[in-house]
Amino acid sequence: MSINQKSYAYGAQKSAIREISAYAQERKAQIGAENVFDFSLGNPSIPAPDAVRFSIEKNLSLPATLLHGYTPAPGLPAAREAVAASLCRRFGDGTATAADLYLTCGAAASLSITLGALVNPGDEVIVIAPYFPEYRVWIETAGATCVEVMADATTFQIDVPAVAAALTERTKAVIVNSPNNPVGSVYARENLAALADALRSAEERLGTQVYVISDEPYREIAYGVEVPWVPSVYERTIVCYSYSKSLSLPGERIGWVLVPPTVPEHDELVLAVAGAGRKLGYVCAPALFQRVLADCVDVPSDVAAYDENRRALTEGLSALGYEFIEPEGAFYLWVKALEPDAGAFFERARALELLPVPSDSFGCPGWVRVGYCVSHETIVSSLPAWAKLAESYR
Ligand code: PLP
Repeated sequence: MSINQKSYAYGAQKSAIREISAYAQERKAQIGAENVFDFSLGNPSIPAPDAVRFSIEKNLSLPATLLHGYTPAPGLPAAREAVAASLCRRFGDGTATAADLYLTCGAAASLSITLGALVNPGDEVIVIAPYFPEYRVWIETAGATCVEVMADATTFQIDVPAVAAALTERTKAVIVNSPNNPVGSVYARENLAALADALRSAEERLGTQVYVISDEPYREIAYGVEVPWVPSVYERTIVCYSYSKSLSLPGERIGWVLVPPTVPEHDELVLAVAGAGRKLGYVCAPALFQRVLADCVDVPSDVAAYDENRRALTEGLSALGYEFIEPEGAFYLWVKALEPDAGAFFERARALELLPVPSDSFGCPGWVRVGYCVSHETIVSSLPAWAKLAESYR
């Protein structure tokens, strides 16, 4: 075998989400976009705020060699200072300095860098299932084993006793994602505090250090609930963030890793993050968007539009008798399939042009994820098809 077989396998097995989304495009071309209800992708339906365009236009007047030139590997000092100042305003003085931040091409790079900075071959990284499927790819690429721990079966909060039971002397990190993709849950402060206690007692018992990797691309999309700042609950937390969802900029690839000053191994870890960025070739995030950040860090997300979609979908599906987890954040609804096999349920849905994502792709049987980052009209006009689907099981 001359080429890397692991990479070949990742390339050959397409992600279920991408496959369904590609099918939706084909189907729209065949029968008209208005007749296909594509709930597969987490691509924001809300346009980027005007402030982003104004910042781009302003920055276009910079000399081209400056505008398009390399920046320092961790990002422009002005952009990192702006992010740090914003975090201090929101979460308290001392939350971050520019030196604690490394700008990245989105949360995907933030997670790959963080895993690259933390894990050694043979380490284990715990994910809370159901989980974003790319976590497994990034964990395995970093040389670690992905250990799935199911969330609480009723609340979909972290099942702390189950995490405690999965902690071994090889556990290097737990990835926590709140607001959560795919469930839409937000972990309560008490839930995170219980996790922190479990991790501290395992560290003491096993003589190890366990990190929380807090993956937060949906932090700004929450519906009236607190999204706790995880480093204030657990000291060994690294935060991975992106503007893909909060500013609707997924194609521009911009985000950051924060090693908060509270991490006991802070100085060493800041260098390991820079080193992991270097190893992976993730240096100098897109320069224009670093400048946009400096202008737009405090621009709010348009949560109201997602909230309207959330209400229309939950009210509509609830009236039809569907069970789901009440979403507190992100833009996904986690709906119980009307039969144990989520794949078979998806096929019946597909026959009615409804395209959610079966839960098996997220490491959990029996549910589907309905992404409501679509037009309001798509939600409203999909309801008769959801009604037919429910009817077909009666
Ligand atoms: N983490 C989660 C939970 C996500 O849902 C996504 C994207 O949908 C990512 C990470 C990757 O985000 P980005 O597009 O910023 O790389």
